[in-house]
Amino acid sequence: MIDIEKVRADFPILKRQVNGKPLIYFDNAATSQTPQQVIEAIVEYYSKYNANIHRGVHALSQEATDLYEQARLKLQRHFNAEHSHEIIFTSGTTHGINLVANGFSGFLNEGDEVLVSAMEHHSNIVPWQMLCERTGASLKVIPMNLEGELEMNVFAEMLSERTKLVFFNHVSNALGTINPIKHIIESAHKVGAAVLVDGAQACPHIKPNVQELDVDFYVTSAHKMCGPTGVGLLYGKEKWLQKLPPYQGGGEMISEVTFEKTTYADLPHKFEAGTPNICGGIVFGAAVDYMNALGFANISNYEHELLVYATEALLKIEGLKIYGTAKEKTSVISFNIEGIHPYDIGTILDKMGIAVRTGHHCAQPIMDFYGIPGTVRASFAFYNTKVEIDTFVMALNKAKMMLI
Ligand SMILES: *Cc1c(COP(=O)(O)O)cnc(C)c1O
Repeated sequence: MIDIEKVRADFPILKRQVNGKPLIYFDNAATSQTPQQVIEAIVEYYSKYNANIHRGVHALSQEATDLYEQARLKLQRHFNAEHSHEIIFTSGTTHGINLVANGFSGFLNEGDEVLVSAMEHHSNIVPWQMLCERTGASLKVIPMNLEGELEMNVFAEMLSERTKLVFFNHVSNALGTINPIKHIIESAHKVGAAVLVDGAQACPHIKPNVQELDVDFYVTSAHKMCGPTGVGLLYGKEKWLQKLPPYQGGGEMISEVTFEKTTYADLPHKFEAGTPNICGGIVFGAAVDYMNALGFANISNYEHELLVYATEALLKIEGLKIYGTAKEKTSVISFNIEGIHPYDIGTILDKMGIAVRTGHHCAQPIMDFYGIPGTVRASFAFYNTKVEIDTFVMALNKAKMMLI
């Protein structure tokens, strides 16, 4: 059970006012808010441990290194990776995807196919398009239906021995759809394709078990799960990470350097060139601790309650249409009100202290699919309440009166 009063007290930002009104933060799918425990971990790092890692003989450097590597172990346990060196710290989901896409440059040839789902974030489309341009492989799109669910029959027919890579998101950021990833991974493996799952939108709600999923690559960002921006992780199976070439060259990722030849460091350092976001990595661990203390089952049950409550209330507004009505959904509602541009709704809601996202949510192909310029997206976290949803619905009715 979520003790909502206690949870809300953990988030100092929820006490502030916006435009003279108490903040109602419904833009959690873009970035989540930060609990005091995580803020304190940042303060503690810079107050006590700040030093560069893996290099110094002095105490601070060793302590910072220990904390950073402990965070890696924590993340290994959280995602149930077999080895801690399968956890690569990145600057976020986008970085992780680019790292893998770049690494596959040498493995793809003309005639090879890579499959992407129709409901991807731009960061899980563009790096692969760039990869296909470099290699001559072709990009094929797994279609979705009007509910916002992938067409699994079509996907089954698309798979062949030409398929080398399949990549898709665990949860769609624009629609909230939870994709049947275990089934997708199994099917892709039957034809020998590698699979990358973009977990940025899933990890705030679900605890993925990478060994049970048997996924080859899983990427995510800390800032959508109560952590700081600018840090994330790439999980990769050891055999893949050993095969992939380094992404960036620099310090930290080398074993020996001469002008004639450089040898690379072992995993995970081979993929961690330069001084990393040390504080970010450590604090990512603190964010995962915070969420695990609440419990992911508690989090997703509570958020599901909010989703059902808000969906019912919103559908009572005449002319309101929800995009993304998959059976399996996280607490994201994308919608439009007939005759009103989403941006205008977002602007009026902001005046009332309510933060939502408007636009294409970095998923333009989804908007093209529905033939709309964008949507209003309300995304709920475990610290939101039904009372906030009531205020939101009232505000929407007011906005509708003003705009029509
Ligand atoms: C947010 C998000 C991304 C991008 O994450 P960054 O932290 O901006 O790199 C990618 N995919 C999905 C599904 C997302 O929700």
